[in-house]
Amino acid sequence: MAVPTIKQVRAYTVRGGGADYHDQGDGHWIDGQIATPMSKYPQYRMTRKSFGLNVLGSLVVEIEASDGTVGFAVTTAGDIGAFIVERHLARFLEGQKITDIELMWDQMFNATLYYGRKGVVVNTISGVDLALWDLLGQWRKEPVHALLGGPVRDELQFYATGARPDLAQQMGFIGGKMPLRHSPAEGDEGLRKNLAELAEMRSRVGDDFWLMFDCWMSLDLNYATKLAQGAQAYGLKWIEEALPPDDYWGYADLKRQVPTGMLVNTGEHEATRWGFRMLMEMDCCDIIQPDVGWCGGITELIKISALADAYGKQVIPHGSSVYSYHFVATRHNSPFAEFLMMAPEADRVVPMFNPLLLDEPVPAQGRLSLSALDQPGFGVRLNPDCDLARPYTH
Ligand SMILES: [Mg+2]
Repeated sequence: MAVPTIKQVRAYTVRGGGADYHDQGDGHWIDGQIATPMSKYPQYRMTRKSFGLNVLGSLVVEIEASDGTVGFAVTTAGDIGAFIVERHLARFLEGQKITDIELMWDQMFNATLYYGRKGVVVNTISGVDLALWDLLGQWRKEPVHALLGGPVRDELQFYATGARPDLAQQMGFIGGKMPLRHSPAEGDEGLRKNLAELAEMRSRVGDDFWLMFDCWMSLDLNYATKLAQGAQAYGLKWIEEALPPDDYWGYADLKRQVPTGMLVNTGEHEATRWGFRMLMEMDCCDIIQPDVGWCGGITELIKISALADAYGKQVIPHGSSVYSYHFVATRHNSPFAEFLMMAPEADRVVPMFNPLLLDEPVPAQGRLSLSALDQPGFGVRLNPDCDLARPYTH
């Protein structure tokens, strides 16, 4: 069978939820008071939108093959990502065989090395990579998990991230991860409030339900250590992203200083095999949490996950909906997955990338059967009601 070539690459932007799940209306829990590296500035403490958390918006990458097959994917990159795709990356894709994903990834990464390596550039490469895997699956009429070696389990099991672990427990999730609200700038009083919230949640969910704190890069080593030690009494399962992502040394210290049995996890703002190699070689954490839409795509996550396997670390990808699910299903070292509670009050299950995708599967009773992932590619469609813009062409 002749392999089609890539005919055209198109990049669109869209606002209002979707891949940029921080781009929500006012009053959403995800924009409530959450400790961040900006919390030391009182004027940027009460909401994350106040310092521009939702400034990027979603990027949609669409790739059309010579036989008319179309693949697409979404990530967080907005206008900047659209520029990079149209004006820079498209040249490495158009005319190539749709099966040559490894070659295209290598050319995209190396051609952007002088201004890329991490952040929005690698988000953008990730979006293109996911679109290439979707295209390959559409053409082969197989789900992406089948292209990755096939599933190793019949269903995925989820913990929930959001403001209401107690409600997540009622919905059947295996655990609940809360955003930490008070930052070190709020001193000992803030620390006591953080621990009081954990204590209150523990009293609601009983002893066995997992509770975790997501600290979104907001702490320093001393505060993170004190928080972990105080949280031991309430059975905190893990402390997540306690420190800035570049502080590998701090993470290595923190992992040594937390109470025995408590996990130190991080990686959602880390990228590529080299970033994760640092986390693992320096023994910075127990579980790595790459975001497949940000770390370099499926092509890079395969390499990161293989390295984690050799280090005996679990890989529990950050968010990312179907793009994570198809990967997690195929890995022995990814025994459960994250579900972001995108309802404004975290009181019901809604699709994570709502409203951008159609056919986006969601867990029921905290579980998702693999039969929900048996459509070609990633098995989702773009919602035609979303208002896409194409700011650049080539
Ligand atoms: Mg997190």
